[in-house]
Amino acid sequence: MLKVTKFGGSSMADAGQYRKVKDIIFADRERRVVIVSAAGKRFSGDHKLTDLLYLCHAHIQYGVACDTVFEMITSRYIEIRDALNLQLDLESEFAQLKQRLEAKKVSQDELVSRGEYFSAKLMAAYLGFQFLDASEWVKFNLDGSVDQEVSYALLKEKADLSKGVVTPGFYGVMPNGTVKTFSRGGSDITGALAAAALDADVYENWTDVSGILMADPRIVNDPQPIPEVTYDELRELSYSGAQVLHEGTIFPVREKNIPLNIRNTNAPEDPGTLIKESFATESDPNRFITGITGKKDYTIISMSKRGMGNEVGTLRKVLSVLERHNISVDYVPNGIDNVSVVMSTESVEPCLYNVLSEIQRDAKPDSLQVHDKIAVVAAVGRRMAFRPGVSGKVFAALGEAGINIRMINQGPDELNIIFGVDNRDFAEAIRVLYNSFVK
Ligand code: ASP
Repeated sequence: MLKVTKFGGSSMADAGQYRKVKDIIFADRERRVVIVSAAGKRFSGDHKLTDLLYLCHAHIQYGVACDTVFEMITSRYIEIRDALNLQLDLESEFAQLKQRLEAKKVSQDELVSRGEYFSAKLMAAYLGFQFLDASEWVKFNLDGSVDQEVSYALLKEKADLSKGVVTPGFYGVMPNGTVKTFSRGGSDITGALAAAALDADVYENWTDVSGILMADPRIVNDPQPIPEVTYDELRELSYSGAQVLHEGTIFPVREKNIPLNIRNTNAPEDPGTLIKESFATESDPNRFITGITGKKDYTIISMSKRGMGNEVGTLRKVLSVLERHNISVDYVPNGIDNVSVVMSTESVEPCLYNVLSEIQRDAKPDSLQVHDKIAVVAAVGRRMAFRPGVSGKVFAALGEAGINIRMINQGPDELNIIFGVDNRDFAEAIRVLYNSFVK
């Protein structure tokens, strides 16, 4: 068994967190590979190391001395080193970096990657594991995609699994050797690549919550974590607004069907959330809803046209207008002689009047209406497919709470029930659903 583990910024924030990471790694001999983020916030109001590094680069760029910010960065790492009694000469590496920085010889990507680099150096020394720089194995193609074949082969060749290995997340190198970072939060990708490269049995993503929550904790008081979720459900949840791992970050493990387990460094005994392609047996078959999420600020354009149900091409004409304006349509609920298109207000607002007049011109509807300030709420659950009564329960609960439903939509795979309400009913709709399905 091999477990690839990734620790996010809050797990790397200070020496106390390093100690927790060590306990987690040494509690299980199968945890042989560790990917780390840069130091995150220690308390609210604190700075993430990566943000400080971006700030440092901006100083140099605009010709402002960066000494204060640079000192904040170096002292974070030196503090951790000293608190853990590690013998590592960070000072000379920092001095060299500063010199090159002032000579404008360090790109933004290279500079911000140093957050993960120093985290990994310290963690490798602390665990007594091999330090393997990401530049040794994460290789990008010229188009910015990862060369998976080459990267996987390099990691397999260079990682000393018997010793244990720590590698920095978030960056790799271009074919000419220059450092390139992923987008923000990209250490998750490095972790997934490592797990896929080594055909791990599980990819553990350690963070500061006990898994993905069933609803937004800013809306629902103390929501339960989701014990098991499929990749498809995860996609639905994040598309509809939940702050979960972005689909793009986990494609390497999904491709190889490696389970992903989200765990809490501050509560390692919690099982967290297990994400897999499918579950052979359901741990709680009576729980129909996996999660409830949603987003505010959608616009609905509704049109009706007598006889449209028998006409050919009207929907295409409407969608073509939106395509011309590069607007991504989220939902298309329809009746016989009417259809609505639902999209984010942000995307349609700048060209709304052009869109409306073009729909009028091309599709010639009898009436055309715009509704904005709409929130979309999604109840997601793999177990509700083919099960009667779930949508009935959803709508009955909302009706009893006096919440007016402005739109209803269900994907053909029956993985979700999506409905629109006024923005002002958004939080209440989520609470009502949560209480009727979870409590
Ligand atoms: N440190 C980087 C960031 O803050 C990458 C990561 O933590 O995943 O975005």
